[in-house]
Amino acid sequence: MTDKPVTPPGEPAVPCAACLKEVPLGTAFTPEGVDYVEHFCGIGCHRHFIAEAKRRGAGAPGSGA
Ligand SMILES: [Zn+2]
Repeated sequence: MTDKPVTPPGEPAVPCAACLKEVPLGTAFTPEGVDYVEHFCGIGCHRHFIAEAKRRGAGAPGSGA
């Protein structure tokens, strides 16, 4: 019954902004120092998210003006 990560009862889960997998808020990776608040299941997904954002050329932090 424990063949997959489960969210402990009472702990809120948030979807990873990159892969949309639900991760417990307590273990979600949340970058600091950015305008937006997104949660990621790991640093890899965060980098992927930033790379995608830069490729789209919209909302990328530090893109200047
Ligand atoms: Zn993810």
